[in-house]
Amino acid sequence: MTDTVLSVRNLTTSFRSAAGPLTAVNDVSFDVRQGEVMGLVGESGSGKSVTLRSIMRLLPRGAQIGGTVTWAGQDLLKLSDAGIRAVRGGQISMIFQEPMTALNPVLPIRIQITENLRAHTDLDANGRAARARELLDIVGIPDAARRLDEFPHQFSGGMRQRAMIAIALASNPRLLLADEPTTALDVTIQDQILNLILDLRDEFGMSVVFVTHDLGVVAATCDRMAVMYAGRIVETGTVADVFARPNHAYTRGLLGSVPQAGAERSMLLSIEGTPPGLAAIPPGCAFNPRCTFAGDTCRTTRPELTSLGPDRSVACHHNDAVVQAGSPVA
Ligand code: ADP
Ligand code: MG
Repeated sequence: MTDTVLSVRNLTTSFRSAAGPLTAVNDVSFDVRQGEVMGLVGESGSGKSVTLRSIMRLLPRGAQIGGTVTWAGQDLLKLSDAGIRAVRGGQISMIFQEPMTALNPVLPIRIQITENLRAHTDLDANGRAARARELLDIVGIPDAARRLDEFPHQFSGGMRQRAMIAIALASNPRLLLADEPTTALDVTIQDQILNLILDLRDEFGMSVVFVTHDLGVVAATCDRMAVMYAGRIVETGTVADVFARPNHAYTRGLLGSVPQAGAERSMLLSIEGTPPGLAAIPPGCAFNPRCTFAGDTCRTTRPELTSLGPDRSVACHHNDAVVQAGSPVA
């Protein structure tokens, strides 16, 4: 595809432990296209954050990252430290669930934005000052001239999240990696931030990888989605298709736990059991102990991620039975 901007192939990330390497992301491949929002979905611990952090090489020393991450004709995993720093926060920006981890508590917001502008644009001091005000306007922070001189702790949670997005946008990124950026916010603010991200995508043709455990957010925000379980992608497709015809029992379970219209959004609770720890990923299909469709093969043989057509794939031995069972939200 010519409009692919980011291409992740066989991304595999392991951490050292006393018991040997623990693989948090295992053979993950996906593409992100120009101007699309790609959702990366799964329960806590499935490897979503490690995937984003591997792409940006923001992992502790000792983490082993394999595979390729192709961006603008280069493999980000092979760039020098200076090379990846230039891309990070420049062409590719990242925002996090907890803005206080990304914001510097002892610097006013103005400095944090203008520093990023200095690092990634050619603007002079006047240009940077004007652009900083403009960025606060864009992210919907009123009274920008005054608020620029405030510190992060003087902002509410929603406003902090907006400030972090303003800093992330300072470099005019072509790709935004968003790691559960609305999870800590109440539903009204969450919707405002999601709409802001969609507006920015429309206005600047920015691409977004949106990590979330909330399928309601995926439905409202994403074009395509990839479902992760125990470090692997188990299903991909357009959001419409996956919601209408889940092919993996795990996806179907996630959909079944989305509160229906009228109910409050909440954490996913309804799949029985818990995801495995990295040291105890079951043989065969990692989901088999929790799966009502599982047979003998599932306990011994890992299903490969298999193409079902353009933009559609699944890693399940019994996807026909899962499709037959129907979508809980269709
Ligand atoms: P999530 O899908 O919730 O974002 P993560 O990507 O954060 O999940 O984590 C995936 C797995 O990797 C988890 O089991 C987590 O404990 C483990 N992990 C994450 N970071 C590290 C680290 N720095 N060292 C060791 N294990 C880690
Ligand atoms: Mg995470």
